[in-house]
Amino acid sequence: MNTVTNADLHCHSNVSDGTLSPEEVAERASRNGVELWALTDHDEVGGQHRAHAAAAALGMAYLPGVEISVSFANKTVHIVGLGFDPDDPAIMQGLADTRGGRERRARDMAADLARVGIPGAFEGALKYVGNPDLISRTHFARYLVEIGVCGDPHEVFKRYLTEGKPGFVEHRWANLSDAVKWIVGAGGVAVVAHPGRYDFTPNEEYALFSEFKAHGGQGVEVVTGSHTVAEYAKYADLACEFDLLASRGSDFHDPSESHTDLGTLPNLPGKVTPVWEALAPRVLHP
Ligand code: AMP
Ligand code: MN
Ligand code: MN
Ligand code: MN
Repeated sequence: MNTVTNADLHCHSNVSDGTLSPEEVAERASRNGVELWALTDHDEVGGQHRAHAAAAALGMAYLPGVEISVSFANKTVHIVGLGFDPDDPAIMQGLADTRGGRERRARDMAADLARVGIPGAFEGALKYVGNPDLISRTHFARYLVEIGVCGDPHEVFKRYLTEGKPGFVEHRWANLSDAVKWIVGAGGVAVVAHPGRYDFTPNEEYALFSEFKAHGGQGVEVVTGSHTVAEYAKYADLACEFDLLASRGSDFHDPSESHTDLGTLPNLPGKVTPVWEALAPRVLHP
């Protein structure tokens, strides 16, 4: 397992806000040379058995995965879980609780959008939803592009779905301590996803990693589709400083929307320890 370099341990299927099925994501990962794969749908493990079966059929090693939405310092932080038991009752219940409230939030978002002249966004977003429990801002973004309000999903987020913009609704997600506890309790490793994306002050970032470690968190994404090359170096340094394992993942959602395809990122810098070395006993071999 230590010879793996092309691990892609962060991506989405239509079980959350991706557009491809778990089987199609597996096929694309395998075609792109991924040697070890994890499907990490938001707040949901409903695709895990399909993903594992598809990986096995393609001869690709697999790690169970999830990306949990957490509220920390008035922002949303994502925690990736890897190598846990996806049938563990506590993580399943915790994720069900985290998903709860998404529909209410979506209705409030739609009401907000209606006030700025965009009616019918709830029904419109719903057309893009694969899993009714998991209506997300991404589905609204696709609908707003469809009706020509914006040219692409990124523009939708900039103009509508982010803090201070119409269509943004404050939401309380899981606690950091609970998310880490669910993952670790189910035998996995918790990883801070794309830390470069949160716009934290240095103090807030320090607090995030200190608390994360204190709760039993062990990893950080270093090479991700959400980071610049400078951020690969910054978070490799942080991994060493906080003694964290390093992860690598594209955060792929869709062939045309995602700028980073599965398995195409640079390798992890040599100075860090890949999270998959620590997870070797949890890897599901084909
Ligand atoms: P939600 O969990 O409903 O708040 O939606 C979060 C998802 O929105 C993320 O996982 C991304 O897939 C997507 N997203 C967030 N910000 C952006 C952005 N600026 N451009 C495109 N997609 C984004
Ligand atoms: Mn997403
Ligand atoms: Mn994320
Ligand atoms: Mn993601």
